[in-house]
Amino acid sequence: MKPDCDVLVVGAGITGLGAAYQLARRGLTYLVLEAGDDVGGVWRTHRWHGARCDSDFIKYSFSFKPFLSDQCLHGRARIQAYLREVAEEFDILPRIRFGTRVLSASFHSAHGVWEVRTSRGVLRARFLFNGNGYFSSPHLPRFRDEERFAGEIVHTAALDDARSFAGKRVVVVGSGSTAVCCAPELARTAASVVMLQRSPSYIYEIDNRAGALIRACQALYRSGLRAPVRLLRWYLQLRDDVIFVAFRAFPALARAIFRRHWREAVSEEAYREHFTPRYDPWQQRIPVAIGLKRALRDGRLALCTGEIERFTPGGMVLKDAREIACDVCILATGYELDLFRFGLSVDGAPVELAGISFHKGIMMGGVPNYFHPFGAVHSAWTQSTEAMTRYAIDVMLRVRDEGRRGVCVPRRELWSAPRILPGYVLRSLSRLPRLYGNWGLPTLDNVLSYRFDARELRFS
Ligand SMILES: Cc1cc2nc3c(=O)[nH]c(=O)nc-3n(C[C@H](O)[C@H](O)[C@H](O)COP(=O)(O)OP(=O)(O)OC[C@H]3O[C@@H](n4cnc5c(N)ncnc54)[C@H](O)[C@@H]3O)c2cc1C
Repeated sequence: MKPDCDVLVVGAGITGLGAAYQLARRGLTYLVLEAGDDVGGVWRTHRWHGARCDSDFIKYSFSFKPFLSDQCLHGRARIQAYLREVAEEFDILPRIRFGTRVLSASFHSAHGVWEVRTSRGVLRARFLFNGNGYFSSPHLPRFRDEERFAGEIVHTAALDDARSFAGKRVVVVGSGSTAVCCAPELARTAASVVMLQRSPSYIYEIDNRAGALIRACQALYRSGLRAPVRLLRWYLQLRDDVIFVAFRAFPALARAIFRRHWREAVSEEAYREHFTPRYDPWQQRIPVAIGLKRALRDGRLALCTGEIERFTPGGMVLKDAREIACDVCILATGYELDLFRFGLSVDGAPVELAGISFHKGIMMGGVPNYFHPFGAVHSAWTQSTEAMTRYAIDVMLRVRDEGRRGVCVPRRELWSAPRILPGYVLRSLSRLPRLYGNWGLPTLDNVLSYRFDARELRFS
């Protein structure tokens, strides 16, 4: 069973591209298998109006190519273009097999080789690195009498921002990150936009201009001094972690901060109705808004908190009998969470993936030579996954250098609930992997958890 390369990487999103860069740097050969026709992952596929990141892109971009800009957050197209630049600049593009969907993967212990069945034939490698993403199909709630509605009900997954809603009365259902990005963008051209949320939520509005500190670090970077941007990324990560821990430890203080944040923009009544959730800050992800306050003030966008009871030909009726007339109802209701897009087996036995233990968010219990980063929830994805990927490569190199066939961590029966519980996590709680061996705080993890430590590892 001769391997085609050291590592097969699944997915050419931000995870797969980051892995490809690090693998090459450390002397491991790889191929990236990508089902789609371009790089970018979610930044290729999420084409709805206003799709953008909500992490400062200076920290969300790769550490080996920080993205310098006078704006903090960037839109989908810019992020995808950046990822394409990375793939070209670091010679990753020729090593990606586009249009190649992984269908299943089997590990053969006797040979220490993964055999990966794809839509374009079988490939083999010593290690499998899975960056297949975690959002799967759109979450599509059903509503009473929706077939009576004369307008259109469409999920953001089916939208393309080339489409115009000029002159239309639009309702955007949801108040998570998607709705908070999409609704203000639509409000620029639509006749009216109502953002309809089932219950109040925390939303934080930012000014998208990079502050003086970010601009100064970037200026030094451009003049050849790299350290300030590196320190800035550490600082921004530490800030994320401190806010996450402090908000959860002192919810009353956090609520007071949100109150202050919104009170100058909306009336007391509106604040109470829309921005005072039953849960505490950072029990769910906090969407970051740009231009929401202004759109509310200008009357281009209205917020409504209530539950849809049924549709009528001209719009919808809420449970409290209020009616909203509209032409288009956009479901910003998110996605189902699914970490595994193909089945795995070890020596012919299928791996039971539901509830599997996940060591340090990267190695799955009982599955040899397999690495699959699953990052922190409150911080930029890359700030966790880069360290996880480095750790994975340390482990691979140990296997190779010691002439071993494989490495594995034991499967453990664990119960660990994720630290935040938004709807998409709650819907898939029983299937989610059980994380252990790290803190879920990148500032601590990147220093402590991802140092090479062989205690949990079983080499063969
Ligand atoms: C609109 C939006 C905004 C976001 N903003 C942020 C943010 O600000 N900060 C943050 O940290 N995170 C954000 N995220 C989360 C984001 O998903 C992660 O940051 C990150 O992009 C995940 O990258 P990935 O490469 O792991 O997965 P994906 O981007 O999902 O890429 C997975 C790739 O694998 C391919 N693939 C899947 N299955 C197979 C298969 N069987 N065979 C071959 N290829 C396959 C897919 O085609 C895809 O290209 C956002 C997500 C969305 C949708």
